[in-house]
Order: sequence, then structure tokens, then C-alpha cells
Amino acid sequence: MARYSPSVQNLISKLGSLPGIGGKSAQRLAFHILSMSDEEVKDLANSITEAHRLTVRCSSCQNFTDSDPCPICSDPKRDRSVVCVVETPRDVATFERMREYNGLYHVLHGVYSPVSGKSMNDITLSELIARLQKDQEIKEVIVATNQTAEGQATALYISRLLGPSGIKVTRLASGLPMGSDIEYIDDLTLANALKGRTEI
Ligand SMILES: [Zn+2]
Repeated sequence: MARYSPSVQNLISKLGSLPGIGGKSAQRLAFHILSMSDEEVKDLANSITEAHRLTVRCSSCQNFTDSDPCPICSDPKRDRSVVCVVETPRDVATFERMREYNGLYHVLHGVYSPVSGKSMNDITLSELIARLQKDQEIKEVIVATNQTAEGQATALYISRLLGPSGIKVTRLASGLPMGSDIEYIDDLTLANALKGRTEI
């Protein structure tokens, strides 16, 4: 019962497979793309291909970057004794926007979530451990995973894993709403949670 031509249907389903894009939005985007000029469509397609081609994961913090190590890891003004562990590159952007944090990051690219089939091997935990073993400068790891059951489980797992290492493991202060994603927390609340972080 295809309502659209196969090529349009294909575009809608590709757009609809992106996170946060429901069926209605996918249709709206598809018809917007169809109404664009050839030149605009080429520009859009090129920007997707180029961003994808030029972007790699920083070999140190695992964040997306077009230079390895990334600008944050290679910035001599950053405090190299503290690493903030976050779930996504968007969380790095949130912390940077706040301007209260001057340490380094580690991007897990997900969270331990047995329900959605994500194991510890699907996130960059082994890269974190290898990094901590190699880099003796790191004295504290702030686990800033989201305030969700999965985020908490991941934080506890990391703290247990690092227990014998002597590295201090802290968690953002409680008071952040349960179930909240770091990226939606306002700067002031996040800054306070960072200041009031506690050892776990
Ligand atoms: Zn980096």
C-alpha cells in the first residue's frame, strides 16, 4: 500500500530511521528536500558525506574530532589531572558551554543498558581503563553519566573497576532530577552539581 513512489518512500524510511525523527517528521523532511533546488540538495548531501569522512574519534578521549588528538586533549591550558566521563559528544558540548570545567573528557558513546542490548563492551570502557593505566597524571574521574538507572549502573561499575587503582572516582552531586539527561540541564544547576560532586 505504498502511498508514495518507491524512491520517496525510501527517503522517508531512511530519514525516519534517524533518532528523534518520527514518521510525520520524516515525511515533512522528505517533502522539504524534494522542494529544494538541485544545488541545495547536492550541498546537503555533500555536507553529510564530508562531515562523516573528516570526522574521527579522538584516540585519547573518544570524542568526535577532525584532528587527532582533539583540540581539548591537545590544549596545554586544560587540567590534565581530572577526566569527566560522559555518555555522548553532546554532553561534552554541554559542559564546555557551561565554562566551569577545565579538565579533560572521556566519551563512552553510550551507557551500559542490558535492556537495549548494550553491554560494557559496546561502550569505550576498555579505552578509558587503558588511558588511565597509561596516563599517571590523572587523579580524579568524574562520572557524569545521565541520572538514569543505566547511567547510575554504569557509574557504579566504573567506580568498582577503578577501586584498586587509587584514582578518586566522583559523581555529580545528587539534586539533579532523576531520569534527567545532562544535555538538558541548565548551566547553573550543572555547575552546582559539578562543584558539589561526591566520591563514590
Ligand atoms: Zn580528545
